[in-house]
Amino acid sequence: MTQLVWFRNNLRVEDNKPLAEAMKAEGDVIAVYCFDPRHYAETEFEFPKTGAFRAQFLIESIANLQEKLSTLTIPLFLFHDKPEVVFPNLIANFEVKNIFSQTEWTSEEVSVTNAVKSKSTEQVAWHQYYDQFLFHPEDIPYNDFSKIPKVFTEFRKKCEKYTSVRELAESPKKQNCSISAEKIAKFTTKIPSLQALGLEPPKLDHRTAFPFQGGETAGRERIQNYIWETQNIATYKQTRNELIGTEYSSKFSAWLANGSISPRMIYWEVKKFEKQVKKNQDTHWIVFELIWRDFFKFISLKYGDKLFTMGGVLEKKYNWKISEAIKEQWIEGKTKYNFVNANMKELAKTGWMSNRGRQNVASFWAKELQQDWRIGASYFESLFIDYDVHSNWGNWQYVSGVGNDPRDRKFNIEKQAENYDPNGAYVNVWLK
Ligand SMILES: Cc1cc2nc3c(=O)[nH]c(=O)nc-3n(C[C@H](O)[C@H](O)[C@H](O)COP(=O)(O)OP(=O)(O)OC[C@H]3O[C@@H](n4cnc5c(N)ncnc54)[C@H](O)[C@@H]3O)c2cc1C
Repeated sequence: MTQLVWFRNNLRVEDNKPLAEAMKAEGDVIAVYCFDPRHYAETEFEFPKTGAFRAQFLIESIANLQEKLSTLTIPLFLFHDKPEVVFPNLIANFEVKNIFSQTEWTSEEVSVTNAVKSKSTEQVAWHQYYDQFLFHPEDIPYNDFSKIPKVFTEFRKKCEKYTSVRELAESPKKQNCSISAEKIAKFTTKIPSLQALGLEPPKLDHRTAFPFQGGETAGRERIQNYIWETQNIATYKQTRNELIGTEYSSKFSAWLANGSISPRMIYWEVKKFEKQVKKNQDTHWIVFELIWRDFFKFISLKYGDKLFTMGGVLEKKYNWKISEAIKEQWIEGKTKYNFVNANMKELAKTGWMSNRGRQNVASFWAKELQQDWRIGASYFESLFIDYDVHSNWGNWQYVSGVGNDPRDRKFNIEKQAENYDPNGAYVNVWLK
């Protein structure tokens, strides 16, 4: 009897519920990850769905996952193909009885899950777990996703009062694998190169604020470094709006996005730090931001595909415009604001931008240029190392006035530049 773990956006071995559950079941455990060609196609807005920065980070994450799983004697089979194409063969060859995976609910992911399910035999049982949250969906004080409030503060306060963060899942232990080495070798393939995914390797820009590697090992090192070694966590709230370098914010987002680390890992490490070293507003604020991350996931659960519609979750009817020339100027950093231009150049050269930068360039695009906000969101999706479907589309809606911002703000770019880059140091990094 074989248990199969299907890795999607949960590329870690520690604190991984599907993996932990598979390892509790009887029999051998095997694992699979698919580089799905649909993820490397063009979006409806004509950007590559996954650009080279994120693809490179993903390749590193998978290499690390494969290594970690092999120390547990779990083979990770890799395919550059659609899951629904490769699963029937795996199920038949390994006599798979159970499939374990993280629950995904956005429509593209659900259609893939359904396609795989339709191709798997009735003897296969499915086990799916929400494993990407800080607050588990079963633990929040709303018994129905439709009851989740539109406004963040209301959601946060209630969850902080009534919801506890779950303990980490049990650490996996090495299994005895009865599958022959020959059989494993027959199914073993190499990680596809960037070129095989249709992408050119990105050039390293020494100015990058995100010079990090993909994978659980690097993600956990970053937690260790940011919380314990530099203790930057103790000044996080004061530095989080800065713009230059690796240390002004945690940079956890990229590992969180593909699940190389979990929000629970960060939470419990912060709690330990608060007990052993220091507890202040700054240490609290990183948890506050992780609740924002959860909030956008819950909003996405509540509103489904409205996350991607022009009118957004509020069903607003604005007069969105579309101009190729304006899009080019924005992307190339040739607008009237140097602050926007510097941020857009940083993004194009590194796949990274600070939260302050993201808010400004998105507000400029949607509120000042009044361009279809979904084009901006789709460009971010293509470029960002830390792209996360819920955080990206949810934040874009929020900034564009079709989401859940009760204040519906338009950023005054000149004022923002004055406040956050008073001496032009950031603009100089990218425009000089
Ligand atoms: C238009 C726009 C698009 C965005 N797209 C993404 C995206 O695709 N993926 C993504 O992870 N974040 C996105 N964000 C949120 C935020 O900008 C990033 O999470 C943050 O800049 C990542 O840097 P960090 O890890 O150093 O964050 P820190 O400031 O160190 O925060 C710690 C963690 O809290 C979470 N977090 C912080 N701010 C937010 C927020 N506003 N919304 C949701 N979670 C948050 C992240 O998981 C982050 O890693 C977007 C924001 C905007 C305005």
